Parts: sequence; C-alpha cells; structure tokens
Amino acid sequence: MVERFSRQVVLPQVGEDGQRKLASAHVLVAGCGALGSHTAEALLRAGIGRLTLVDRDVLELHNVHRVSLMVLEDVGQPKAERCAAALQRIDPGADISAYVVHMGPAEAEEWVPAADVVVDGLDNLETRYMLNDACVKHRVPWTYTAVLGTHGMNMPVRPREGPCLRCLFPEPPPAGALPTCASAGILGPVPMALAALQAAAAIRLILDPAGSSTEDLVHLDLWGRHADHAPVPRSADCPTCGRGEYPYLELSSRTTVLCGDAVQVLPRRPLELDLEEVGRRLARLGSVHRKGSVLAVDLPEASFLVFADGRALVKGTHDPRRAQSLYDQYVAR
Ligand SMILES: [Zn+2]
Repeated sequence: MVERFSRQVVLPQVGEDGQRKLASAHVLVAGCGALGSHTAEALLRAGIGRLTLVDRDVLELHNVHRVSLMVLEDVGQPKAERCAAALQRIDPGADISAYVVHMGPAEAEEWVPAADVVVDGLDNLETRYMLNDACVKHRVPWTYTAVLGTHGMNMPVRPREGPCLRCLFPEPPPAGALPTCASAGILGPVPMALAALQAAAAIRLILDPAGSSTEDLVHLDLWGRHADHAPVPRSADCPTCGRGEYPYLELSSRTTVLCGDAVQVLPRRPLELDLEEVGRRLARLGSVHRKGSVLAVDLPEASFLVFADGRALVKGTHDPRRAQSLYDQYVAR
C-alpha cells in the first residue's frame, strides 16, 4: 500500500494516517451515470476501501460520450454492475457492492447511515432532496453536484454544521421547469471535471471533517474557462437542517405497473403540463400526436401517453424503474 499510494501519502493533507482512513472509509455512490462513474473511479483510485454503487438504469448509447469505466459493448447493461466490475479490475481487493434499483426513501434510510460519505451521481432534483433529508437526518456528510450544458456546480454538505441543499434551494423548481441533459445537452468533459471536484470534497470530508469548508457553492464553466464560488449561509429556518422535517423521506411510490404491458408514472407533485410545449420539444425526437388532453408520443426507445395532469403511461414495459427513468428524461423532472 505504501508504494501504490506513495505520491498521495506524501501530501501533508493525507499522510500515512490519512491513507489508512481512506482505506477504511465507505462511500455510497448515488447514481452511476457520468458524474457517479467518474467520482467512483477517482475515489477508488485514491484508496477508498469500500464503495456501494446504486443506479436504477441501463447504459444507453447516448451516455457513452461522458461516462467513465463503461464501453460501447456495455450498452443495454445495468450501469451499477458494469461500473462495479470495472472498478473491481482496478482494485481486486476493494469491497464493492452494486444495486440496480431506484434509490427511494427505504433504500436511502438503509444505506445512508452505513456510509461515511455520500456522493451525488443523480439525474433528478427530487431524489437529491430525498438524499439531503436522509443525510441530514442521519448526520452523514454528502456532496451535492449538478451538471448541464457546459457547466456544473458542487457544494459539500456537513449536516447541521454547514448549509444543506434546502438552505441553498428551499424548494425544488416546478416539475418540467428545468432543462435536462436530453433537452439541453451536455459537453462530455463537464461531468469529469465536476466529479473530480466532488471526489476531492468527499476525500476532504473523510480526512478533515471539521475543517472542510462547506459554506460555498463552486461553479465551473468549462466552455467559458471560468470558475467562481458563492457563499451559502446556513438558513436558521431551513425545514430540513433547522426544523428537522424530512418530507422527501415520506413520499410514496409514484409508479404503478398496469396490466396490458404499461407502467403509470405520477408526477412528483401536482402540476399542469403545457402539452403544446411538451409536444414541440418531443417532436424533434420522434412522432407526436395530440389527442385532446393526451399526447401520444412515439420515440425510438419508447412509446408513451402524456396527460395534462402530468401523468404518463409508458407502454411496452413492466419495469417501473425504466418507466420512471423515461418519464424523468422526456416528460418532467
Ligand atoms: Zn438546511
């Protein structure tokens, strides 16, 4: 171990004691797409001894330009499993677990308390708010990271010592209000840069928990070659870290498997979709027919009906995780 990590151990911030701490640390990687896979690889190579990988989805062709560890022949296979297999080849002695599930409240309540740090590889804000609830409730530090287009941002969270996600953004934006990687695109190296920032923050939370500066949000614009950071005060009346309310751990499942080879996906909160706008957005990707208050959408990878109340019926699948993933990608986050 001394030789393998010698260039890291020599750092005054790490040292032999620090390297031993990393070897005994357990990091939960929530999501194994671009952000999660790059973060997991950086952490494993730095000597983190135990990783738990969670991702509900399979690798798609349009993921390959930005992920780590996975190659073209992995398309169609679960991302968590392919990441775990590749990581295990890098370090056969590491303790790596992979779960191909949607991380809901039950999973978060079980896995978050078992981790020393949680890192963000998620693709939707709702699950991030749920994760923030779980981490603050169980006092497990985590790092919030988001990427889109040519830029991204990162903020480490030390529960009840520094600001949490809801101190930064008290409420999630309305469903469908934010662009997604499917609609706005993402430059391949962006998640790699933000994952490096996130992995370094996670290592510091393990080695120097009290000293970790968490009161700022770092923003990187890779195209404009610009970095800045904004101070984030801890909010005294934050519902999560101030009042100890965890509503996102209470939400029940939004998906129902229907007979007739379809899955219904409910919106994350009551909403009225602008079907004209959704139709225009999806018409660039496939065929769209408006039938009253229903939009019938046929894309190469899925067919679904979208209702004005935000509900969708995803056809041709019995898999609620896949249906929810398609909903998040194409209907609303
Ligand atoms: Zn807070």
